[in-house]
Amino acid sequence: MSRVSYVNGTYRSHAQAVVHIEDRGFQFADGVYEVWGVFDGRLADFDGHMTRLHRSLNELQIAIPMTSAALKRVLDETIRRNRVRNGIVYLQVTRGTAPRDHAFPKDVAPSVVVTAKTIDPAKGEALATKGAAGVTQPDIRWGRCDIKTVGLLANVLAKQAARERGAYECLLVDEMGLVTEGSSTNAWIVDADGKLRTRDTQANILRGVTRTKLLQIIAEEGLELDERPFSVDEAKQARELFVTAASTFVMPLVSLDGTKIGDGKPGPVATRLRAAYLEQADRDAI
Ligand code: PLP
Repeated sequence: MSRVSYVNGTYRSHAQAVVHIEDRGFQFADGVYEVWGVFDGRLADFDGHMTRLHRSLNELQIAIPMTSAALKRVLDETIRRNRVRNGIVYLQVTRGTAPRDHAFPKDVAPSVVVTAKTIDPAKGEALATKGAAGVTQPDIRWGRCDIKTVGLLANVLAKQAARERGAYECLLVDEMGLVTEGSSTNAWIVDADGKLRTRDTQANILRGVTRTKLLQIIAEEGLELDERPFSVDEAKQARELFVTAASTFVMPLVSLDGTKIGDGKPGPVATRLRAAYLEQADRDAI
């Protein structure tokens, strides 16, 4: 018997059940899921999972895609079409498909995917009788910002916060009040003494390729640099503040949380570094 899965209103053969490559679940892990146990063809804890689903959707400001009754019909139908007596039914709801941009797209319908599979209850019973093994690992959820992973939900929420506040970028701040990096950029200041500063890469940040190139340019230009973190207050009192990324090169930020940086205009160092970066990029691009 072939498996059947539900994708956005249609039941398809499992092999052909696909979402678009720009689905935000795929691009950003921008979605939520639930798993119900299926007992003798019936859903366990239906209300408990529905309540958590609604909470998760609400937290991410993703619209509830259909009523609980309609969703129950889809879950039941997926179970029925797959002839699952005992097993699980999996639901994933993402923010939907839209051109890739961290901030939330407007007027996009959530994607809804449902799959069901059989699990032999005898296996679980046998293991439960014998008992199962456990191991430990450090909890790194999510302390590995050095990996350029698509698990970008936190970055998405930060970029959205920036957009909602009429800003270009959101700088992320650690528990010490120090800036780590931007939601999709590395962050820099020219401090009150005129010295360039950016957080060191021992810290939990992405090692920006643009950042690395800019370090070379800074050395070539003979500018002074301190690779250590700066606080939000230091950023507000800095002569210049800017961010870097492959998509934006060197981008001056002229305000932070409404506070004007320097004289409120792009400063000479950021302007010079942007020009130098663009010149090198143009020369070296292959
Ligand atoms: N930091 C984060 C979190 C990013 O997502 C990015 C780029 O996407 C950067 C920094 C800058 O990296 P790069 O200069 O390699 O584009």
